[in-house]
Amino acid sequence: MGEIAWFIPGCPEVARGPLARYRPPTPAGAADGYIRQLTSPGALVLDLFCQGPTFLREAVRAGCRAIGANANPIGLLIAGLGLEGTPANLDAVFTRLADAPKETPNRRSIPLHRHILSLYRSRCPVCGGEGTAEWFAWDREARYPYAKAVRCPRCGRIQEGPTDEADMIAARRLDRKGFAYYFALDRVAPLKSSHRARAAELVDLYTPRNLSALVDILIRLEGLELERPARAALQGALLETMDRASSLDPHGEERPRPRLLRPPARFLERNVWYLLEATVARAMEWAPEPVRRAPGLKELFADPTPAYTLLPLPAREVARHLAPGTVSLILADPPRPDGVFWALCALWAGWLWESPASQAMRPLLGRRRLEWDRHQEAFQAALSAVGPLLAPDGYLVILFAEPDENLVASACQAASAAGYDLVGWGASTEVGCRLVWRWAPRSDAGGRPSGRGGIGAGPAPPTDNAEAPPAVAETVRETLQARAEPTPRFLLTAAVHTELARRRWNGPFGEVVQAVRCGWESLELEALEMDLLWLPDLDARRLDPPLADRAEEIVRSLLTERSPWATDDLLLAVYRALDGPLTPEPSLVLLCMRSYGVEDGGVWRLREEDDPARRAEELENLRRDLEELGRRLRYRPARGRGWDLRWRERGRDVYLFRLSATAALGDLIPGKLPLPRGGRPCWVLPGGRAELLAEKLRRDPRLARAAWGAGWQFVKFRHLRRLIAEGVDRRTFAVMLGLDPATGPRGVQIPLMMTADDGPPTTDH
Ligand SMILES: [Zn+2]
Repeated sequence: MGEIAWFIPGCPEVARGPLARYRPPTPAGAADGYIRQLTSPGALVLDLFCQGPTFLREAVRAGCRAIGANANPIGLLIAGLGLEGTPANLDAVFTRLADAPKETPNRRSIPLHRHILSLYRSRCPVCGGEGTAEWFAWDREARYPYAKAVRCPRCGRIQEGPTDEADMIAARRLDRKGFAYYFALDRVAPLKSSHRARAAELVDLYTPRNLSALVDILIRLEGLELERPARAALQGALLETMDRASSLDPHGEERPRPRLLRPPARFLERNVWYLLEATVARAMEWAPEPVRRAPGLKELFADPTPAYTLLPLPAREVARHLAPGTVSLILADPPRPDGVFWALCALWAGWLWESPASQAMRPLLGRRRLEWDRHQEAFQAALSAVGPLLAPDGYLVILFAEPDENLVASACQAASAAGYDLVGWGASTEVGCRLVWRWAPRSDAGGRPSGRGGIGAGPAPPTDNAEAPPAVAETVRETLQARAEPTPRFLLTAAVHTELARRRWNGPFGEVVQAVRCGWESLELEALEMDLLWLPDLDARRLDPPLADRAEEIVRSLLTERSPWATDDLLLAVYRALDGPLTPEPSLVLLCMRSYGVEDGGVWRLREEDDPARRAEELENLRRDLEELGRRLRYRPARGRGWDLRWRERGRDVYLFRLSATAALGDLIPGKLPLPRGGRPCWVLPGGRAELLAEKLRRDPRLARAAWGAGWQFVKFRHLRRLIAEGVDRRTFAVMLGLDPATGPRGVQIPLMMTADDGPPTTDH
């Protein structure tokens, strides 16, 4: 068992705050675990691609000083909103914005919100009264709004229906190429900018009405004298509004987020003011608890009190602002190659800020797809740049919450080519991937290894391109052999890429993926379920017990050796024993914990009934009672041949009992237990294992197949004790066990017996 848990599952959290629909889930709780294991209080932690508040919050709470860096100012705005707390006076500030004067064409001045709402004035499609549209639905090709939803004061509700003549006229009233258009365009790409054509395509994703409303709000917001937190909160609300007010959301169809920078054939034009109002109302939810902020690096370094600061810089610039060897931990949840999101960020950043950071985003305005090759290169460059910042005992942790195979490939290649050594990893389809590295620069870092051997404890001899596919196949085989159970494809992929990183087999993304594919294809993998892979030839091998059984045993022994355990400590102890290729899914570990432990206020104790001495006595008593019952039913009870008890008749085994305090089902695998012809195998186990047993049969189709094939019957201790106490005859016994052929095909009752009610005997039948 190692000192450090390299895989910390945490709990993936859906993103919150502005643009949540574009942002990947956050591996919440994981950063906290790494910080506590790998740093000491006051240490400096760098969130290299800061795109939300999670890592910084966990770092500051763990007593560290934290820097969130990101070249995308929108990522930092969102992170800041989640850290700073929404200002209490937001409503008042919003009212100031709403009441800011807007000059009308006839030089009268009216409050901004009244002006904007007047753009959406429309008649109620039901009663014909004056109202305000929540949205219009447009036909993209015909270029007119065909349907609407109107807030009707007379009906007292929102009424949906077709548009009318007045709606068509109102929709065309504003000039497509008016003031708002050029303001929005110039702001993102000035007249001579090479990005102007791309920027224009993005500005065109707004109807003239919505664009003019957004530009009016933007200009009034800039004109207000505001404290930074209030301004940030309104900018955040406006950002979310900019997203929802584009023409990218379809009418009459739910799509989580736009995947293309093209309006759908029928798109929504939402009321900009209503959007903004609703977002401001929700802004209180963005930051549950404020975290201490340092205005800048100087203040962060001057005071050892835990705090965070935000640095709107790309990685290579970050390296220039920090002293080498000062960072204890770099956390990197890499940006995804999401061309749509990046182009929109470049547009919105240009609208919100006239800053160097937002100008640096301009090249992303192009809607070209962002490719994985580019992702890997950029990731590698960023990691190379910040490597020297790490203290000699510092770590880089790359962590992300989705089971994305390309992301694993890109991360492993980027980090190893940038000069990091992998020291630990883990992966799960449920919570994503964790890769822990140390900075170990090599003379040829930054590219494909070329030297042979290196100096001293330097790099291992580089591998040849042709060696990659065999290495891939070998890794997949070894991983399956080590887990001794069918394994999700994502975990195998992670094993392969970490192994290539360990061997320093570096290449461009496409080349690596191709080599990996070759390696996969050389194996005769069987797909047991959609994503569950196995090598059937391993069935003939003597393997360790399946991983699920080992995980159960580890949880059982941890809870037996020591009690109580805090939830996180117990999880960490399990993952200290099982990581890398042996990473078990967190849901399985939790099920093991629930099977053997009881939780009270975040603290786990072994269940009283699972006390080893008590279980041993229980098993012995049960065996004696079963022997007694066997005799009463005129069988000849016997022990041995791998079975806890056999009931025999005329020299043959009729019933075969396996009495077990665990749900270690590895022995179900054909060949492990000699199963004589005609013998009826019964697995007797505590009722507390029922859920775990069902999960093990679900997650390993081999076990389920074996159980059904051999007609295994799973019986709870309690159920068997009841049968013994009731003095059944042979026939009733068989029926009650579900082993009588007359009750249907063998094995059919597996779930029935296991979910049988656990109450007092009288309610059972
Ligand atoms: Zn009405």
